[in-house]
Amino acid sequence: MTADRPSPHLDLDLATVRRAYRTMRNVLPGIELCYAVKANPHPDVLALLVAEGASFDLASVGELDLCLLAGARPAGLSWGNPVKKVTDVRAARAAGVTRFTTDAPADVDLLAREVPGATVGVRLAVGDDGSATPFAGKFGASEDEAVALLERARAGGLDAAGIGFHVGSQQRDPRAWARAVDAAARVAARLGAHAPRELNLGGGFPTTHAGGPTPDVDACAAAIRHALAAHAAHWRPRPFAEPGRALVADAGVLRAEVVLVAQRAGRRWVYLDVGRYQGLAETEGEMIVYRLRTPGRDGETGPVVLAGPTCDGDDVLYRDADVRLPLDLAPGDVVEFLGAGAYTSSYASVGFNGLPPLPTHVRQVQHVPHETPEEGGIDHHTPQH
Ligand SMILES: *Cc1c(COP(=O)(O)O)cnc(C)c1O
Repeated sequence: MTADRPSPHLDLDLATVRRAYRTMRNVLPGIELCYAVKANPHPDVLALLVAEGASFDLASVGELDLCLLAGARPAGLSWGNPVKKVTDVRAARAAGVTRFTTDAPADVDLLAREVPGATVGVRLAVGDDGSATPFAGKFGASEDEAVALLERARAGGLDAAGIGFHVGSQQRDPRAWARAVDAAARVAARLGAHAPRELNLGGGFPTTHAGGPTPDVDACAAAIRHALAAHAAHWRPRPFAEPGRALVADAGVLRAEVVLVAQRAGRRWVYLDVGRYQGLAETEGEMIVYRLRTPGRDGETGPVVLAGPTCDGDDVLYRDADVRLPLDLAPGDVVEFLGAGAYTSSYASVGFNGLPPLPTHVRQVQHVPHETPEEGGIDHHTPQH
C-alpha cells in the first residue's frame, strides 16, 4: 500500500488546505487571515496561501525566510511571537516587517529601540479553558498591564495600534472568543481616545479528532461576530485572525506501519514506525487523540496501548485514551492518522535513534478550466463547451 513511499510519511492534500482557507474567509468576512506558519511550514502550503491572498503570522527568522521565499509581501507579515531576540527584530526590520505582537515591558522597549514607528499589538492573557493544548500562563498581559504596555509603546514612539489574544489551540468552546473580545473591549474603553484600532483574534480554531465533539469553525466565527457586534457602538477595531491548525489539519494523513504487537501485563501493545519523535508530538499528555484507520483490516477491534518505535520510555502515544484497533493487526499493516496535517512534520526530530524526520508528499491542486471558487479539483457543474 505504501510500497512506493517510505513509511512513515505525511500525505498532504493542497486542495483541502485551499478549501479550509476559503471556508474560513466565508465565515469570517472582512477579517484578514494570517496563517500561523508553525502549524505546517511546507513551502507548497505557503505558496498556495500566498496565491489565495493570505497574510502570515510568524515567530522566527526561519519562518520569515520561508514566507518571503513563498512570495509573501512584507506588509502581510505579522511577527506574532512575543519572545524575540535582538537579531530577530533586526532581521524583521531589514525584511520590511512592520507589525509585531508584544506582552512585556522589556520587549516593548526592544521594539521601540530597533523598529521605531512599528505597529505593535499587545497580547492579553485570556482564559484558555476548553483548549486541548492550553498556554497555561506562558504568554499575555493582564488588562492593567495591557493598558500600561500600550501607553509605554506610544510613549516610546511606536504605533500602539493593537490588542489581541490567543484562546488556546484546539479550543472547543466558542464562548472563549466572546469572553476574550469582551476583555479586549474593556482595555480599549480604558484607553479612550487612544483605543487600539486593530484586534488580533489569534488562532485556536479546532479540528475534528477522536475523543469528544468539536464545534465547527462556523460556531467559533458566529461567537466572534456576535461579540464584535455587541461592542460596535463604542469600538470598531479592524479584526484579524491567526488560524494555524484549522487550515491544514484536515489536509494531512500520516501513514505509518505496525512494527510489533505484544502482550504486556495483560494489555495489547502495538508498536508503530512513527512516534512522539517523528511528528506525533501532540500526543504528549494525550492532548490530541487522532482518528485512526487501518485499511484492509476491518474485523473486530480491541483496546491497545499505542507506542512509537524509539528506545525512549516517553515514546508512548496513547496509554489512557480509548484506542481500539483490529484484533488481527499484524506487523507490516498500515495505520493511518487522520487530521494530521498540523503540528506533525515540523515537530519531527532530525534523527533521534537514527530515525529520519517525517517526509511530506504533497498532492497539488489540479488546475482545470471552469474551476468553481468553492471546490478544489474538477468542476462538476459547468458544462464543457
Ligand atoms: C500557534 C499560534 C497560532 C495558531 O494557533 P492554532 O491553534 O494552530 O490556530 C496563532 N497565533 C500565535 C501567536 C501562535 O503562536
